Amino acid sequence: ITPFLSVQDLHVSFQTEDGIVKAVDGLSFDVEKGTTLGIVGESGSGKSVTNLAILGLHDPERTDIGGQVRLEGQELLGADRTTMERLRGNRIAMIFQDPLTALSPFHTVGRQIGEVYRKHKGASKREARERAIEMLERVGIPNAKVRVDEYPHMFSGGMRQRVMIAMALVCDPDLLIADEPTTALDVTVQAQILDLLKDLQQQTGTAIILITHDLGVVAQTAHNVLVMYAGRAVERGTMREVLGSPRHPYTWGLLSSVPRLGTSVDVPLRPVRGTPPSLINPPPGCPFHPRCDYPELAGPELCRTQRPEISPDAGHGDACYLTLRQKTDLRTVAHAAQ
Ligand code: SF4
Ligand code: MG
Repeated sequence: ITPFLSVQDLHVSFQTEDGIVKAVDGLSFDVEKGTTLGIVGESGSGKSVTNLAILGLHDPERTDIGGQVRLEGQELLGADRTTMERLRGNRIAMIFQDPLTALSPFHTVGRQIGEVYRKHKGASKREARERAIEMLERVGIPNAKVRVDEYPHMFSGGMRQRVMIAMALVCDPDLLIADEPTTALDVTVQAQILDLLKDLQQQTGTAIILITHDLGVVAQTAHNVLVMYAGRAVERGTMREVLGSPRHPYTWGLLSSVPRLGTSVDVPLRPVRGTPPSLINPPPGCPFHPRCDYPELAGPELCRTQRPEISPDAGHGDACYLTLRQKTDLRTVAHAAQ
């Protein structure tokens, strides 16, 4: 059967003054309806670029894109602007970290939510206003009939993010892309927004791609996880597989200061030692090798010269030369040391 969203061998590169940046370098994943895929990585790992490419929001003059992005079999890469605009309103929606940059300060929230609905569904002004109120209620904004006529600055950060979600979901999209949707919010509000997304997903069956640097957010929301490093997937699996029995040394690094599965303590991500690699001149071999503690064990020649590939089969997979036995043993030692 055709996956709902299928991304195959996606490549995205763009020209900068310093050279060509390979932001995404051969990425594949599927997302099914009613499920959330968490895409995790440090900034500069290619996770946001991936989603701009899916949305057709990259700058076509300067960006080179290859591969396939299919929504229920329909190819999105190379689709014309009109098609993408229609898709972005009707079937694919997005929310970003900072609602203030996405909402206009000059119009009431009701007008902004309503405009999207009118544009894509051809609704009348009155219908659009009623829909806006209904959406504000659905995202848990109290007193929606009054607040519909207020401006974005009159809302708190968390309420503003709810407004963004209302706007994103007003046309019942099949796919929601959320890029760091809760990063700017405090922990309590963050948990409320993630719960809201989960509830709405259960009601509507929307597929969600959640981009985050925070494995705690993934633990709370995602069904499946993709860990990205230097524009590639280094580990992929269900949330329980990746967070419960992580296999890639980079994932261990990300997890080392994150709460154990099932707890809800918020601990900030401790950066893995060293810095993310240049995407203009990425290191040869395993892109993680300059920061990895285990090349001696896996085979230093191999790690430094040949790029490990993630297995193309479905299921838990990772791109590292260590044996599964070594991964299991090392992980146990690493946990015991904490
Ligand atoms: Fe480390 Fe080698 Fe595995 Fe890369 S392939 S993560 S360098 S052990
Ligand atoms: Mg980003």
